[in-house]
Amino acid sequence: LYNQVQDLKGNIRVYCRVRPFLPGQPNSLSTVDHLDDGNITITTPSKYGKEGKKSFTFNKVFGPSGTQEEVFADTQPLIRSVLDGYNVCIFAYGQTGSGKTHTMTGPSDLTKETLGVNYRALSDLFNISEQRKDVNSYDISVQMVEIYNEQVRDLLTPDGVNKKVEIRNSSQKGFNVPDANLVPVTSTSDVLNLMNLGHKNRAVSATAMNDRSSRSHSCLTVHVQGKNMTSGTILRGSMHLVDLAGSERVDKSEVLGDRLKEATHINKSLSALGDVIASLAQKNSHVPYRNSKLTQLLQDSLGGQAKTLMFVHVSPELNAVGETLSTLKFAERVSTV
Ligand code: ADP
Ligand code: MG
Repeated sequence: LYNQVQDLKGNIRVYCRVRPFLPGQPNSLSTVDHLDDGNITITTPSKYGKEGKKSFTFNKVFGPSGTQEEVFADTQPLIRSVLDGYNVCIFAYGQTGSGKTHTMTGPSDLTKETLGVNYRALSDLFNISEQRKDVNSYDISVQMVEIYNEQVRDLLTPDGVNKKVEIRNSSQKGFNVPDANLVPVTSTSDVLNLMNLGHKNRAVSATAMNDRSSRSHSCLTVHVQGKNMTSGTILRGSMHLVDLAGSERVDKSEVLGDRLKEATHINKSLSALGDVIASLAQKNSHVPYRNSKLTQLLQDSLGGQAKTLMFVHVSPELNAVGETLSTLKFAERVSTV
């Protein structure tokens, strides 16, 4: 295990996940020509762009039949390391409708089988901390914020008002959001309740602004503090679970007002994220964290000893092939394969 943890350290891994066709979609042709363990080949029919095939290699590729359990199984080693004092960051990237929320949270009609990474990760943290309880005592607490138009808002307010909060940097705590509600959790049912509250609060804004969830980033942050019972030594680890805004390019000549503003902010923060991860992957000495709220918020969990996993999602539909290729190019740029 130690070696495995060492291997993961500082590395950026990229997993690709292909969404299945949705029920009710005709037995369609897919843009995915071929996939295996770490490779995916996309085919562009002439009707949808320059005809041809392009292959990409990632740490892992999950096809349309990949289950939530299988996807999580390959994420598990990262989760464990949070209890050893590491910072971990897990992202879901992709165009709207490609399956980001499905991976992180699950579908709206959740069952035990379809629970997403967020729930499984916390459930694992509780199980392992229980196994280690004779040696360490752990305190686990969570925050949930969204970033919309470069403003950070608390999603765990009991009154449903998504209070605006600021990112601070302190020598003790590093980059954090001290004014966002920090809620201690001891069981998976606590977590489900909080996730429901967060989603409800996100939905409140959605009615005013029609599906805001695809145009904001949401971040569930888990703080873990472990105290060794004999030595009294304290270890702190954290995990950010981020459901990013849709990565689709918006034709700026066709949108105005609020839509243009949103598109500009999303574009800016996703490119800032790409720049940060790419410069970490290339081991550059300067990492441009300060270009967006997203990269500031995650600064302590990107680079250094931290471990980063990006799930890039693609839709199988032929008419999505342009976005699929740009998603996979983004992913290729940030990966170290
Ligand atoms: P995004 O968050 O990227 O906009 P969603 O996660 O909401 O996309 O997925 C869009 C739709 O596709 C939802 O109805 C979701 O339940 C379904 N879906 C996504 N991924 C899968 C999957 N791996 N298996 C089954 N259904 C999926
Ligand atoms: Mg979503």
